[in-house]
Amino acid sequence: MKKPFLTLAQAQEIKKTYPTPFHIYDEKGIRATARALNAAFAWNKGFKEYFAVKATPNPAILKILREEGCGVDCSSLTELMMSDRCGFSGHEIMFSSNETPAEEFLLADRLGAIINLDDLTHVDFLYDTLGHVPETVCCRFNPGGTFTLGESKEGFQVMDNPGQAKYGMTPDQLLEAFKRLKALGAKWFGIHAFLASNTISNDYYPALARILFQLAADVSAKTGCDIAFINLSGGVGIPYRPDQPENDIAVIGEGVRRAFEEIMVPAGLGEAAIFTELGRFMLAPNGHLVTTAVHEKHIWKEYIGVDACAANLMRPAIYGAYHHITVLGKENEPCDHVYDVVGSLCENSDKFAVDRPLPRIDMGDILVIHDAGAHGFSMGYNYNGKLRSAELLLKEEGSVELIRRAETPDDYFATLVW
Ligand SMILES: *Cc1c(COP(=O)(O)O)cnc(C)c1O
Repeated sequence: MKKPFLTLAQAQEIKKTYPTPFHIYDEKGIRATARALNAAFAWNKGFKEYFAVKATPNPAILKILREEGCGVDCSSLTELMMSDRCGFSGHEIMFSSNETPAEEFLLADRLGAIINLDDLTHVDFLYDTLGHVPETVCCRFNPGGTFTLGESKEGFQVMDNPGQAKYGMTPDQLLEAFKRLKALGAKWFGIHAFLASNTISNDYYPALARILFQLAADVSAKTGCDIAFINLSGGVGIPYRPDQPENDIAVIGEGVRRAFEEIMVPAGLGEAAIFTELGRFMLAPNGHLVTTAVHEKHIWKEYIGVDACAANLMRPAIYGAYHHITVLGKENEPCDHVYDVVGSLCENSDKFAVDRPLPRIDMGDILVIHDAGAHGFSMGYNYNGKLRSAELLLKEEGSVELIRRAETPDDYFATLVW
């Protein structure tokens, strides 16, 4: 069973100051997740998590993660600017962009970020833009084909399609990029790949690590490039459904360690650091979208209308993603009603849940939509003139802090030319 980190009493109290809908993040959970990740990879001297800013771009969150030893993974100008203002600098910033404008490379370089090149053509583009290449640089790898793990009768445990993904370089291009970067003055190299998203498997990172470690050994032998780090990127997932198993980050870290001992150490690359760029794993379970039931409708189906909509959390509307829902105060009541829980957009995909067994919902009930802490608020949009909600932080000692105010109509109209 998924348990909210907020009680009904707490939510009612918060609602007096900050009306629903709002996103709320759990500081205690965020710190615990970061500590578990760091412990799982403590065997690796240079280990660092670069939190994927796009998952939850909020200074309060980034500062907590920085206190836990994390860096940031940015992919746009504003993400770099936010990270800079939060105090991240130099190698605390990874810049993993694609189709990158020159001004973003310039800012990344000015901040001393580690630049992760998505394409072979970016080697010369970077050189032409900066007038040099940074001493430390990373290249993104794409092995092509399909990536699968754990075949069973039900299919593959993990399946994704790198051959159809726009990211990264082929093996030959990566080799070429390293040679060229070295000739242009680069000294320390990293290899990065993101092969599957939201994996529920303790084998994803170890399998990915094996591929990248082998590649590192090969590239290092062929080019003499000094491999300083392997970036396993994001993709370690979370169980959105209550019946899914949870990843065990300690087991994952141990699996990567074994691959490291088997491949990197014999290849003379035992000093290399492991980097991660997790977003979802770090934040998704540590955020709730909190909303109030405001309308019920009985037609061909039973509908519960809530004051949040897809503008606050797009994943169900665009991916058909499951997000668990708890009706606060009714945690132990039987789920003997079947509802579609819907938002107010003029868009029929605006449904947080379809045919969901839930306890009887009364108007005014407060609902927690789980696992909204990553790729939740940040994917929000202003369709239908809907305004983005507030973001709140539930601090470790129990108080609540506003970390982003709700938008007002003035915000919505601010960019218009009347
Ligand atoms: C989105 C992204 C991540 C984070 O992915 P999660 O699924 O949230 O772990 C990491 N690295 C890069 C380059 C990304 O684009």
